[in-house]
Amino acid sequence: MSAAGSVRPGLRAWLELGWFGLTTVLFRRRDPVVGSLIVTDRCNLACRHCAVANLRRVDYPYERLQQDMLSLYGQGVRILLLYGGEPMLWHDPTRTVRDVIAAARAIGFPWVGVVTNGTRGADLPEADLVLVSLDGTRESHDAIRGRTYDRILANIRAATRANLCLYMAVNSTNVADVEAVAELAATLPTVLGVSYNLHTPYPGTETLALTPEQRRDVCDRIGRLIRRGYPVVNLATALPRIADFSAPRPCPQCVIVEDGEQWTCGRCIETPGLCEQCGFFFAYELSLLFHGHPAVVLEALRRYPALLLRSPRLVTRAVR
Ligand code: SF4
Ligand code: SF4
Repeated sequence: MSAAGSVRPGLRAWLELGWFGLTTVLFRRRDPVVGSLIVTDRCNLACRHCAVANLRRVDYPYERLQQDMLSLYGQGVRILLLYGGEPMLWHDPTRTVRDVIAAARAIGFPWVGVVTNGTRGADLPEADLVLVSLDGTRESHDAIRGRTYDRILANIRAATRANLCLYMAVNSTNVADVEAVAELAATLPTVLGVSYNLHTPYPGTETLALTPEQRRDVCDRIGRLIRRGYPVVNLATALPRIADFSAPRPCPQCVIVEDGEQWTCGRCIETPGLCEQCGFFFAYELSLLFHGHPAVVLEALRRYPALLLRSPRLVTRAVR
């Protein structure tokens, strides 16, 4: 497909999303537009901060996933993220997660991302974005996720398309590594940038939580990285409202589905008190955006299209 041919669907999607954003802000709509689909809860890791892996140990059937995607699309969701567990483990006798992405495309989703731990490969050229968890330098990452750092870096380097984004959850173990991950992201040819979250203290993981001072400091440091031009995909204007927990949440425009069951924002909504301590940047950023927070809207308009236009589905660029 020519470059021009591949740009057109992206522009259509942006116009559609722009209209959704405008009408959501003006009319205070609460319809979802970002959907997360859990394809399996199986995972090959046992990360210290995790509360969701291997609870049921199932790969959801392909037909179930198709039904869930049709339901999400019918509700207006256009940005789809495939999650696990570890989505690269998902399979049935004849299909892999690549077939799930293809099914999402066939339904009509203009933008499909995958969130992976990167240990089973990170090369998914079919996806618009592949978020690969990397929780700091080798020492702290391996302390949190087991000895996986080198394997993940090798898989990132082996990817054939530049559609990867590092995904770091900042906690009390890796809090010193925020800058190191941004610097690494800037050097990796297949990586577009880094997306940060702060640890959300699920029951049993409270010792990894940041103190209020650390939280403010980390948000300041991420803001400085953005101002210095590091490829950070978070919104600088949202950071002060994340730092002091003052942004609205949960985010009604985000939904998550597992095996036909749907929650608003995240499954964590069911854990009493967790939203008050939320560390997921998307919940704050999208809530502020769809509330029409002027600075956040302006920054999103300025920076999100640039990120999307760098996506290899829209503009094919050679891996450096
Ligand atoms: S890779 Fe993700 S799903 Fe698996 S244990 Fe770690 S945090 Fe949990
Ligand atoms: S706001 Fe609540 S439901 Fe949403 S991601 Fe944060 S903890 Fe989860």
